[in-house]
Amino acid sequence: MSSSAPVEKPQDKAVENVIIVGSGPAGLTAAIYAARANLEPLLIEGEEAGGQLMTTTDVENYPGFPKGIQGPELMTITRQQAERFGTRFVTRNVSRVDLSSRPFQLWLGDKKYQTHSLIIATGASAKYLGLESEKKFLGRGVSACATCDGAFFRDMQVCVVGGGDTAMEEANFLTRFASKVYVIHRRDEFRASKIMADRVLNNPKIEVLWNSALDEVLGDDVVKSIRVANLKTGEKTEMSMDGVFIAIGHKPNTDLFKGQLEMNEVGYLITKDKSTYTSVEGVFAAGDVQDPIYRQAITAAGTGCMAAMDAERWLESQEHAHE
Ligand code: NDP
Repeated sequence: MSSSAPVEKPQDKAVENVIIVGSGPAGLTAAIYAARANLEPLLIEGEEAGGQLMTTTDVENYPGFPKGIQGPELMTITRQQAERFGTRFVTRNVSRVDLSSRPFQLWLGDKKYQTHSLIIATGASAKYLGLESEKKFLGRGVSACATCDGAFFRDMQVCVVGGGDTAMEEANFLTRFASKVYVIHRRDEFRASKIMADRVLNNPKIEVLWNSALDEVLGDDVVKSIRVANLKTGEKTEMSMDGVFIAIGHKPNTDLFKGQLEMNEVGYLITKDKSTYTSVEGVFAAGDVQDPIYRQAITAAGTGCMAAMDAERWLESQEHAHE
């Protein structure tokens, strides 16, 4: 490993070499690699920069941190690393893209950027059940992030919907605050890994409602109760409840690219073979936006590195690099 001297930040270019959209582990790692390759990347980090790790507490499985690290801290230091080599950051959301001709065009409101290559690392967002009442009480008792909102429910009664690792993690975490945690799962066995499921099953503060669905969230200004449907018997029961945590998986953030890039049936970007190439030449995808399987910070970082290397080689082949 060699150490490179920090470089000065160049100004916006008429046409950028590479624009990276997204600032989780994938986007920031792509920026580190692209910056060290002298591509002078522009990273559009979005108004909620940092991605999903910003709503995570302990990260214990990211190599290099034997004692673990807090998610937001990991993102802060990774951003510093990208900045050190000259990455420029724009803290706004992309409103529109046009990938139909080159250079590609991106709009952030009225401001237009042009770029020879694009790395998409927009990640994924929490999914919701789609109940009217769930939407109505969002932020008023309904949440998709226990690590963000759990502390509001000290000595209260909460539930977690879902049966995957996220639901297990959130249920366990919530027992630090809540007096009682219900897990509502639609089947009679968890999807979660055995170790995570066992932690839930052995936690005396947690009760699992098997074969059950959240039917309605009820309350006035804030959540007061829920109606749970037993999917086997059809019976519906009202339970007093202060907090409802939805943990049923994630949706890739690809709405911006609909009709422009090839996606799978649920919207994950398709990358070619073992690369980060998308269906449009010069556009690369990294991290959770193209990964419905692994979805880890370290795999996102790995594909971010791949995307920067793919972009660099592609630009070289196009003779646009280092203009
Ligand atoms: P998953 O897709 O693994 O699980 C989603 C859960 O929600 C499933 O149990 C599913 O039920 C349920 N569900 C989905 N849609 C609905 C719905 N409409 N109504 C009711 N229930 C629904 O998502 P996770 O977010 O849990 O995990 C994603 C990935 O991240 C996994 O690979 C997981 O292993 C990983 N992860 C790892 C962690 C760790 O190791 N520390 C922590 C968190 C996540 P069903 O089972 O019936 O399909």
